[in-house]
Amino acid sequence: MRSTRLWVTLAIVLLANIFITNVLFAPAQPVTVTLPYDVFKQQVVADNVVSVTTTGDAITGVTKTPVKESPTSTVSATHFTTQHPSFANDGLELLLEQHNVTINAKPENPPPPFWQTLLFSFGPTILIVIAVLYLIRRAAGAGGAGGLLGAFGQSKARLYDPERPGTTFADVAGIDEVKQELEELVDFLREPQKYERLGGMVPKGVLLIGPPGTGKTLLARAVAGEAKVPFFSQSASEFVEAIVGVGASRVRDLFTKARAAAPAIIFIDELDAIGRSRSSGFRIGGNDEQEQTLNQILTEMDGFEPGKGVIVLAATNRADVLDQALLRPGRFDRRVTLQPPDRRGRAAILKIHTAKVPLGPDVDLDAIAAATPGLVGADLKNLANEAALSAARKGETTVSSNDFYQAIDRVLLGTERHLMLTPTDRERIAYHESGHALLGLLVPGADPVRKVTIIPHGGALGVTIQRPVDERFNYGEDYVRARIVGALGGRAAEQLVYSTVSTGAASDLQQVTAIAHEMVVRWGMSPKIGPLAFRDEGSGDGLGLSRPYSEATAREVDTEVKRIADECFAEALRLLTEHRAQLEALTQALLKEDSLGEEQILAVTGLQAAAPRSDRES
Ligand code: ADP
Ligand code: MG
Ligand code: ZN
Repeated sequence: MRSTRLWVTLAIVLLANIFITNVLFAPAQPVTVTLPYDVFKQQVVADNVVSVTTTGDAITGVTKTPVKESPTSTVSATHFTTQHPSFANDGLELLLEQHNVTINAKPENPPPPFWQTLLFSFGPTILIVIAVLYLIRRAAGAGGAGGLLGAFGQSKARLYDPERPGTTFADVAGIDEVKQELEELVDFLREPQKYERLGGMVPKGVLLIGPPGTGKTLLARAVAGEAKVPFFSQSASEFVEAIVGVGASRVRDLFTKARAAAPAIIFIDELDAIGRSRSSGFRIGGNDEQEQTLNQILTEMDGFEPGKGVIVLAATNRADVLDQALLRPGRFDRRVTLQPPDRRGRAAILKIHTAKVPLGPDVDLDAIAAATPGLVGADLKNLANEAALSAARKGETTVSSNDFYQAIDRVLLGTERHLMLTPTDRERIAYHESGHALLGLLVPGADPVRKVTIIPHGGALGVTIQRPVDERFNYGEDYVRARIVGALGGRAAEQLVYSTVSTGAASDLQQVTAIAHEMVVRWGMSPKIGPLAFRDEGSGDGLGLSRPYSEATAREVDTEVKRIADECFAEALRLLTEHRAQLEALTQALLKEDSLGEEQILAVTGLQAAAPRSDRES
């Protein structure tokens, strides 16, 4: 974007330059008539010509009274040009002298005037230089003291200058352990002397690690807000921008400013954008700028003494890809991990984000929290917002429970799409989804089926939502297998009913492959491979170049993955064959209703909710 604008601007400047030198500054030409040579001679004889100037054979001149090109012409002027025939040897000079005409001669190619030479040779260059300087200045964020180029290296953090966030810990919920850890930082920023006196080491850098939306940015702001100190916030990707060397100078600038404002917090968001391990992955040059920026951050962090009241907070989604140098003592030696919130945490977060929303009497935030495992803080904020919007659209004064459940569907499913499906397609999709849903009820250990729909959503033609009763952190083998069997339910149903398969199962198969592969190489769930884990997280180069097992084992892994998938598919087919009547009933109900909720599914199939998992804790 930026570079196209630059080129367009330069092109316009160049065109303007050509226009100015050739058109505007070109000497003005007086009105001139072109006389035939003999007419010219007649005018000389008639004593009407004052002066002539010759350039080669071309003659220009001035007359006393205006002359016409020919007797019939309407244009007349006192300036004329004519051409001396080269063969004519007619004593023109003598004739001119006799009639007192002043004679000038010019060289055939006169040198251009001095100012013009100057303009043509330096003009474009000067204009380009001015344009570039102007653009650089604009890119650097306009204005600012210091030289033109000095402004380029200034940290963008100065744009927000030190912010003073009004955020406090009261705005953060559901991550209490983490809050406790950060309270110490707040304490230190408030009363550094208290810590210095006892010679305690205060951390220089704290790394916040957690999936997107878990509240890392929010927490960093809350620390600054609680401590009432200036907050210098900068996304790591913004350091590395236009020109090599700028990143490092921006870092230097940011730290200088923060030190001057101490006690203060520097917050570097998305640290992984520059802090990726330098030993991993492909690196074919081009990353020097990142490396310089990273090195500058390390240097700055080494440089300041602890206890000077500047703390660097950084956030990342992925700690495993960070360069080890960042994690060494004296740098980001303290790490705080944020998990997606549990049920109680979700309820607390919902409470914060519905504080200003008028809730209907039927709204039970705990129940909503229970229905949203896996959602993080940002999702829940979005959910509360969606619910409020949908109530407003309907012109209601309070937000009802129903608004929330519809919002959950929207957040989980994505938006509905209106596709024109043929009846045959629709029927196949209904069988496919019924297959998934039915297996969710039939396979012991599967997650309960909450909803099934054949209305296209996002990229999917139909969706079956299965949601755990509560989130869990450890899964038994029967649960993992139940997931695979359920995922194959769509294809199995199609196979059973039509004896052919379709492309509709592509993403199901992807899931199956991923889970089966993990079972074999990571969770030790294949007796043939044994209790070994081959997946070495953290040092993987992401390219599969360093596979830590032999070719023979690789082949074995492949056959094991295939065996698991085949077994699960056979199981899915067997269960659906056995319950063919229920499959038909569910499909017909879906074709009629488009979507079925949990109770409807149970009613139509006459089945009980799946037996509770055998491996469930507590
Ligand atoms: P991250 O930086 O981890 O990606 P953010 O801090 O940007 O996540 O979170 C986005 C928004 O989600 C926040 O502004 C906040 O409104 C909400 N949010 C996230 N986590 C929480 C939480 N634990 N408590 C309250 N609100 C939260
Ligand atoms: Mg963030
Ligand atoms: Zn499917």
